[in-house]
Amino acid sequence: MKFARVCCIAVILSSIALLTACSDSIVDPIDEEQVLGTPGEETPITEHPIEPVIPELFLQLPTELTLSPDEQLDIAMDGATYYASNPQLLQEQEHGVYQIAAEALTGEKAVLTIAVADQRKEITIKIKYSLSETVTMVDGVATVTNPSDLLVLVNKERNLPADYVPEDLMPPDVPFYFSENIEKRWLRPDAAQALEGMFAAASLDDIKLVGASAYRSYNTQVSLFKRYVNQHGEEAASRFSARPGQSEHQTGLTVDVYHAQITNGLEEAFAETPEGIWVAENAHKYGFIIRYPQGKEEITGYKFEPWHLRYVGTTVAQEIFETELTLEEYLHEDETYYTKK
Ligand SMILES: [Zn+2]
Repeated sequence: MKFARVCCIAVILSSIALLTACSDSIVDPIDEEQVLGTPGEETPITEHPIEPVIPELFLQLPTELTLSPDEQLDIAMDGATYYASNPQLLQEQEHGVYQIAAEALTGEKAVLTIAVADQRKEITIKIKYSLSETVTMVDGVATVTNPSDLLVLVNKERNLPADYVPEDLMPPDVPFYFSENIEKRWLRPDAAQALEGMFAAASLDDIKLVGASAYRSYNTQVSLFKRYVNQHGEEAASRFSARPGQSEHQTGLTVDVYHAQITNGLEEAFAETPEGIWVAENAHKYGFIIRYPQGKEEITGYKFEPWHLRYVGTTVAQEIFETELTLEEYLHEDETYYTKK
């Protein structure tokens, strides 16, 4: 009994010695076996390790993928480990199976790292809605299904629901050319905050901007469009004014900005003023794009409006600024690739 106990203590002590020796790393079970192996036993000849089998799927993984919210990514492979840089966006359902968060926004990105044996791959996953998935016919009218999405595309082919009113409208703390707290002063919080930042930055550059018009309800657009049709005829009116449901101002993400000498009407000449030039060069830094750029009437359906800013968030605004694409082109890009099969 005594002998056995001593033996036990010896083993414990040698284990402690071993742990101490390897205290900076996890004990490798193979080393342990060799150290604790029966004395006199021949050390086996080291064989070449068997090459791990790399799954075909791993070899075929792309470096970039575009997925839409709610879409699932299944790249489950035996022996693979996964790491998502943004687990809120890329939610792990089971080993190697990820669900894109339903509330994900176009333009958001996450990196998924996959390791098999000693090989690693990174996939940059970009979020983008498929346009065809976000429109449906309602009473014969092509109506968007994602009116509150920050990247909602509203144009002459894509109407907002007539009853859509953003729930979170608020007045941004910037000067407007009128003083009342009425609907055309309101924006959704993201856009309101961005506008405040933009006006503050402009002011530091001695540029004085004013808000001309922000949110516009469906009913206001009904009377506005009716008035323009009476004045100019329907065809002319539709080149500069939206039909009800087709106005971006109904999203609460759009604001017309102008210089402080605003009189009556917004004119293309604003683009040549110091204020217009400043807006064109800087709006994207705050998440705004000039929604109807010069020479893109065939794509956007509207004449050049250097004052009409649409909030899309800084990531997308930066990309649109650099590529000089319209929102239509930006969202259509790679459509065939990201549309669900
Ligand atoms: Zn406008």
